[in-house]
Amino acid sequence: MVEKPKRVLALAPMPPEACAYALARYSRSPDSIRESLDWVRRHDSSRFLEHYYFQYGHASIADLGHLALCFEGVSELAATEIEDEPLWDGQAKSSRYQDFSRAPAVIPPELTPAQTQTYLRIAAQLLATYSRIHEAVSRLLAEKLPRPVDMPEDAYRRNLAARAYDASRYLLFLGVPTNVGQVTSIRTLEKQIRRLAVSEYAELRELAEEIRAALAAPPACAWYEGSPAEAVAPTLARFAEPDEYQRSVRERLREWARDHLPPPRGEALTAVDLIRPLNQEADAVATLLYPVTDRPFRELYELALEWSPARRREVLELAVAGRGERDELPRAFRSAPYAFDIVMDIGAWRDLHRHRRCHQYRQAFTDRLGYDVPPLVAEAGLQREYRDAIEAALAATAALPAPAAHYLLPFAMRSRFLFKMDFAEADYICRLRTGVKGHFSYRRIAWEMKLALEREEPELGRLIQATPPWIEDPLRR
Ligand SMILES: Cc1cc2nc3c(=O)[nH]c(=O)nc-3n(C[C@H](O)[C@H](O)[C@H](O)COP(=O)(O)OP(=O)(O)OC[C@H]3O[C@@H](n4cnc5c(N)ncnc54)[C@H](O)[C@@H]3O)c2cc1C
Repeated sequence: MVEKPKRVLALAPMPPEACAYALARYSRSPDSIRESLDWVRRHDSSRFLEHYYFQYGHASIADLGHLALCFEGVSELAATEIEDEPLWDGQAKSSRYQDFSRAPAVIPPELTPAQTQTYLRIAAQLLATYSRIHEAVSRLLAEKLPRPVDMPEDAYRRNLAARAYDASRYLLFLGVPTNVGQVTSIRTLEKQIRRLAVSEYAELRELAEEIRAALAAPPACAWYEGSPAEAVAPTLARFAEPDEYQRSVRERLREWARDHLPPPRGEALTAVDLIRPLNQEADAVATLLYPVTDRPFRELYELALEWSPARRREVLELAVAGRGERDELPRAFRSAPYAFDIVMDIGAWRDLHRHRRCHQYRQAFTDRLGYDVPPLVAEAGLQREYRDAIEAALAATAALPAPAAHYLLPFAMRSRFLFKMDFAEADYICRLRTGVKGHFSYRRIAWEMKLALEREEPELGRLIQATPPWIEDPLRR
């Protein structure tokens, strides 16, 4: 019997630039993939990528090569910035699995030796209180929640410990170390390097350089026998330049906001405020100003609606001035029907930040919006100790230079974040993040999002099958 020719061919993992070249050539020649691979073996992928991707800007070619990268011993702050790409796949190590006795804190490179001492002293105090609270809350939970007969002892201990971490993690701070593993296309990786290279945080700027160095060298970890000698992605290492356009837009908008905005309205804080921005121009203006101010989105949107067209144009033009042929418009020009302006603790945001089918904007981390006390901490009688640790950290941040001072902000601190999305993503987030396995802090936010949608869009909002925060199953993970 004649064997049917294979129609589906799996390729062994390849260097990402060679893979991009092979697949790009495959789509532009009559050859089979086998011939394209032979061709690529005999030709220089670097020259192809340099020519078509970096010089002609055929951006989609770079979507054809993927790469796994791991970041070890970076701060939680750096992890959130690394993850801040919509087309990004990855996971960060949960703080539950991090051994803080080995590496308590990532030191922001901006700090002087004297400031570093203060930083490490406060970091040690926060971590010591974190451990004490974890122990006390674990004991409290063991008293309150006896082991169900059908639950193995080790699963029971694990679940109790996880719940206790839910409370103690409020004392972790943005400078604690974590690990991130990511898989991205080289197109996303280029954007990531360019963005990190103009970050306001020195750690991120250093990481951008370290990524380039890792790409210019053979892989640090090999799967198959014998380490490959080829550089991982040499063309990307050479051509990914800092995104100066993004940096200049940020600086211009910040200056404009400082000089032109009226005094703040000073309204009461709302955890979740849902706005449906129907005017696209005012929406873009408000979204451009949001990350460079500390105003609620509603206030900025209403201001932009009141302004003359000429004033709105001023802001819009600041955002496109100096834009190069290959520069993407700032993220603020992306819109969606629902804008959720959320005031939540940094810990809850770290989790919600991971949703990619939405557009996210963050204001500077702050100590102005207060902090939360988890009910279990109060129940364990440790409220005073908890507050003292946080207040000491806040006092120390006041003496550190911005933005490096953010590294000492505990996860308990509230900040302001804007999430724009369509109904499908709102449904996804509300269902997933109200589930009983989740952290009580983001469960409350996701529940508030559903309630806000129900008020604005009763017929759609009622379709969301979310779990109310009062339904609990603390022994389920
Ligand atoms: C209980 C719990 C524990 C967790 N623990 C950890 C942890 O320890 N470490 C960690 O790193 N993360 C953790 N996460 C986060 C998790 O890994 C996800 O990052 C997060 O839940 C986002 O969900 P998502 O990827 O399903 O969806 P989203 O990013 O919201 O995307 C929604 C859907 O759209 C799809 N999608 C996304 N982008 C696109 C696109 N551009 N085009 C088409 N489809 C797209 C997704 O595949 C998904 O199906 C945890 C989450 C939960 C709920």
